Amino acid sequence: MSVVSLVPYEDALASYDPVMGLEVHVELGTKTKMFCGCSTELGAEPNTQTCPTCLGLPGSLPVVNAIGVESAIKIGLALNCEIAEWCRFARKNYFYPDMPKNFQTSQYDEPIAFNGYLDVQLEDGETFRVEIERAHMEEDTGKSSHVGGATGRIHGATHSLLDYNRAGIPLIEIVTKPIEGAGARAPEVAKAYVAELRELIKALGVSEARMDKGQMRCDVNLSLRPNGTEKFGTRSETKNVNSLRSVERAARFEIQRHAAVLSDGGSIVQETRHFHEDNGTTTSGRIKDNAEDYRYFPEPDLVPIAPSREWVEELRAALPELPRVRRARLQAEWGLSDKDMQSVLNAGAVEPIQETIAAGAPADQARKWWMGELARRANETGTDLAEQPITPAQVARVCALVAEGKLNDKLARQVIEAVLAGEGEPDAVVEQRGLAVVSDDSALGAAVDQAIAENEAVAAKIRDGKVAAVGALVGAVMKATRGQADAARVKDLILEKLGVQA
Ligand code: ADP
Ligand code: MG
Ligand code: ZN
Repeated sequence: MSVVSLVPYEDALASYDPVMGLEVHVELGTKTKMFCGCSTELGAEPNTQTCPTCLGLPGSLPVVNAIGVESAIKIGLALNCEIAEWCRFARKNYFYPDMPKNFQTSQYDEPIAFNGYLDVQLEDGETFRVEIERAHMEEDTGKSSHVGGATGRIHGATHSLLDYNRAGIPLIEIVTKPIEGAGARAPEVAKAYVAELRELIKALGVSEARMDKGQMRCDVNLSLRPNGTEKFGTRSETKNVNSLRSVERAARFEIQRHAAVLSDGGSIVQETRHFHEDNGTTTSGRIKDNAEDYRYFPEPDLVPIAPSREWVEELRAALPELPRVRRARLQAEWGLSDKDMQSVLNAGAVEPIQETIAAGAPADQARKWWMGELARRANETGTDLAEQPITPAQVARVCALVAEGKLNDKLARQVIEAVLAGEGEPDAVVEQRGLAVVSDDSALGAAVDQAIAENEAVAAKIRDGKVAAVGALVGAVMKATRGQADAARVKDLILEKLGVQA
């Protein structure tokens, strides 16, 4: 393998203009497959969820999944697409063991949805419109495992195992038009687009769209052209990128790699590439030129899909609140400025905060924890906020303990840290570590007496009416109790003991 040289990102952009195309595959959450009644449940024993149709046995006939079609139309509508009045499935022919039929049932020149757009919000709050070429229905392939090699790839393997449970699960492929004009922000646009699309899919309820589970994956097509020119350069296609962060990194890496090749007088090969999470690089996959011939032809075993306009309008009217609208509503409900809402978005904190509020926490408290301690931790560990080992329900419980006066802020922080460290539920941590706020007078009395005795001068001032000086004594008690005293109660006790009215 040749060593890949890179051009510094800013230098690449000084000479070249990136053009991107994003292809996103979404696995629908239907109970059964796209063309047969087999279950789509994940995790079953290999090849237990198969039948003559999804195994492509002679004489079997496919039947289209109505929920699959409905989901595709919903996605198309939410992406501002036109919905075909009439369209067909097509056979995409190829010989590869992951598809036992030797073709994938897909759509070719007659996609169910086309010509749409999705407005995405960038980190500085600006909106960028990504135009959608098409959204079409197809089916997933089976899964191959290559055994015996060091890398898990087919190269070097002694044999391969095939699991057809996934073959036939409904997929929607959403393809953008070439994305131009993003310049240096192309990687950011790519990430923001996939993030927005994922929110949209989840809001529609057609898939959980978990990228870590492969339910949503993105191919990043990228090319460069010299600044000021029109004609697109040759693209590379980085396949199956499976996290938001990786989408951004893959685009960025390819910009730097293309620039290195082009500025060195070389030319880009049109090929697929693999992204490597560990070092953020891509490596060559298979050469793919435009002559690739899948010998598409209309699927003769399935009737055309002709969604009535009435049905389409019914589905349009029933679309749920879409993410952009929802974000605006939450911003108003939480009483946030544009800037604060933008930080919440950038931190990926909308869902965690919302779920924490749903679990009973006040909005400001929920935001405080997710945007404070937890965001800092996510940053430090380079992980998504939603992946932290603490649930919204646990954060809400900590908020409740604070509201009940059982914890103060400092103790709450310790409880959160302990939950993150795997010490269990908040209540268990409070119990095991003995972290509860002490507000019981008999327990606090001794510490208060000691603080007064050790700070006679301050006590005298307070007796003389300088009530503001009480802070110093409260501080002494808090220190002596390692932060566990109920500060308000301590203050009252001190004033009481010194015979002063608050
Ligand atoms: P394929 O199935 O061969 O990948 P598609 O047309 O389905 O082809 O998808 C290609 C994607 O790449 C689309 O999003 C398209 O807009 C985009 N694209 C096409 N040509 C270029 C190019 N030269 N540079 C960047 N993106 C491109
Ligand atoms: Mg492609
Ligand atoms: Zn089946």
